[in-house]
Amino acid sequence: MTDAAHVADINAKKDALIASAKRCFDLRLQTNAGGNLSVRLARGDAIVIKPSGVGFNECTHENLQVVHLDGTIEPSDHKPSKDLGFHLDLYRIRDDINGIVHCHSPWATGYASAGIEIPCLTVQTIEKLGRMPLIPLSAEGGPQTDVDISPVFRDPAIKAAVLANHGTIGVGKTLMAAQYLAEIIEETAHIAYVRDTLMAAHGKTAADLPQYGTAAEARAAK
Ligand SMILES: [Zn+2]
Repeated sequence: MTDAAHVADINAKKDALIASAKRCFDLRLQTNAGGNLSVRLARGDAIVIKPSGVGFNECTHENLQVVHLDGTIEPSDHKPSKDLGFHLDLYRIRDDINGIVHCHSPWATGYASAGIEIPCLTVQTIEKLGRMPLIPLSAEGGPQTDVDISPVFRDPAIKAAVLANHGTIGVGKTLMAAQYLAEIIEETAHIAYVRDTLMAAHGKTAADLPQYGTAAEARAAK
C-alpha cells in the first residue's frame, strides 16, 4: 500500500469511527466521556481509537489516535484510553476482528451489574450470537483488562460479551458490524427485562415458554 493510500485509509477510518460514535451517542448507548471504540487500518498492524476523556459525541480527526498493535502511539495531545490494552489484544489474537465498540449502555450494564448473563432470547440473537458471556471483574476487583477479556474472545464464535459493573463489547469484521452488536446487546437486555418483568407479574416461569430453536435446527428436525 502506498503512503497516499495509507493516509486516505486513516482518514476514511476516522470518518467511520466518528459516525459510529455519534450513532452510539444519539441512541444513548454511550453518554459522557466513557466507553471507547476502535477500527483496524487496512495495513492490519495499527488501529484508530478514541482517546481517554473525549466523549463519543466529540470525536474529531484531530483527537482520534493511531496506535500500532505493539502499543506505539502516534504523536497525540491526548491520554490513551484505559481500555487500549484489551482493544490491541483482541486485534492481535483475532485477525477476523476489524472493529470494536465498547460502551456502558444502561440496560445491558444493569444486567451485568446484577451478575446475570443477558439471555439470547430473540430469533436474531439465538441464530447470530448464541451467547453473550458475562465477564466478571478482575481478580483484584477492578475493571476488566485484557487478562479477563481476551480468553473469552479466543473462542472465534464469540462476537459479543458483557462486563460486570462496566459495560458491553461488540466485535466485528467491520466497525459497522461491531456497532450493530452494541445495539443488539442493548436491545436484547431491554427485551429480556420486559419479558422477565411481565412473566413475574403474571406468575409465569421458563417452563411456560415455548422452546425456540434456530432455523437450521427446525429444518433438520423436519
Ligand atoms: Zn468502559
